[in-house]
Amino acid sequence: MSTVGDQPAEEWAEQQAEHETDPQAQYQVEPLAENLIERLAQRAFSGADLAALLTLEEPAAVAQLHRAAYDLTTHEVGDAVYYRGLIELSNRCIRDCYYCGIRRGNHAVERYTLDQEAVVEAAVWAAHAGYGSCVLQAGERQDEPFTAFIEACVRDIKQQTRSAQLPQGLGITLSLGEQSAETYQRWREAGAHRYLLRIETSSPTLFARLHPPEQRFERRLKALEDLAACGFQVGTGVMIGLPGQTIADLVADIRFFASHAIDMIGMGPYLTASGNAMPDSDAATMAPERLLTLTLNMIATTRLVLRDVNIAATTALQTLVPDGRERGIACGANIVMPNITPTVARSHYQLYVGKPCLDEGREACRGCLERRIRAVGRRVGRDAWGDSKHYARRL
Ligand code: SF4
Repeated sequence: MSTVGDQPAEEWAEQQAEHETDPQAQYQVEPLAENLIERLAQRAFSGADLAALLTLEEPAAVAQLHRAAYDLTTHEVGDAVYYRGLIELSNRCIRDCYYCGIRRGNHAVERYTLDQEAVVEAAVWAAHAGYGSCVLQAGERQDEPFTAFIEACVRDIKQQTRSAQLPQGLGITLSLGEQSAETYQRWREAGAHRYLLRIETSSPTLFARLHPPEQRFERRLKALEDLAACGFQVGTGVMIGLPGQTIADLVADIRFFASHAIDMIGMGPYLTASGNAMPDSDAATMAPERLLTLTLNMIATTRLVLRDVNIAATTALQTLVPDGRERGIACGANIVMPNITPTVARSHYQLYVGKPCLDEGREACRGCLERRIRAVGRRVGRDAWGDSKHYARRL
């Protein structure tokens, strides 16, 4: 029997081809295998083990799972939580992902693009605040002016944020969708060294339900491979609680992370967006408490399997409950992405309904977040990139 954590990509592809979504099996609670809670420190888990961990609901067992993931995080990647100051530089997008509030077909959205000066000013603020890294995020565009704009922003940020504390300037993560290998290479050479490209689900069937036909699962996989080939630290992630998604799909997602060159993971609950085009948007969504537990179990289980990756406590978790990010940190996350986009633009970048901190200035956010992180026994990793240890080990 192959176990998750020791599986090559080819084997994952074979299993994925056999895996079929069974709507009847959606989020059934799996029986807890004997001694599973006592075996949380092991290095390899069967698919049945993972399904049982994901569906834990009994409070004492859930607490044990989350504690084991928290302790493993301390052991594998340390006790620091690293900041990535998030700059949402544009909500223009050529794609039409059905679940997304800023998809190109949502004409109710007021479109904006920050200029280079505003992007760099936000990044310089982050460097002075000790954040260590920033994320440049936007809807997807593949035109040359946009490619050159990002290149210029990255170079400018690097130049303006070098200091005694950060001799190589801010660490820069990009989150700008699917691009050609040539574009990825240009941005890498400009100085960005991490890239987030969420696969959203490792199930090709579910992926096809979330996207129009021209957005193909194989293209997303190829883009992830191109990013790794360019030398980026590669981040991906999935949504949890999607209509039609099963526990078997989530187990397959963890298998996907483990069998591909994935160094960073960001996962959040599926939240509906204003102006979405989901075919089954009227379908009953999971109760918030259940969705929260499932999402936290997914973070904890992913930590137990992947061990040394960086895992983000996402803003979507905070949308579900005000202390969602702390709860994510308490079960295995070690990255947060405080929003440092100028507040005037933030309300126009809503991927889902209920995005928090829309009008909270970055100074207020900074103090609030640090208190929250200390409350879960972690410290803030100041003036440091906080790179993925998994990346260093896979080279
Ligand atoms: S998820 Fe990203 S690529 Fe898809 S529509 Fe939204 S912004 Fe565009």
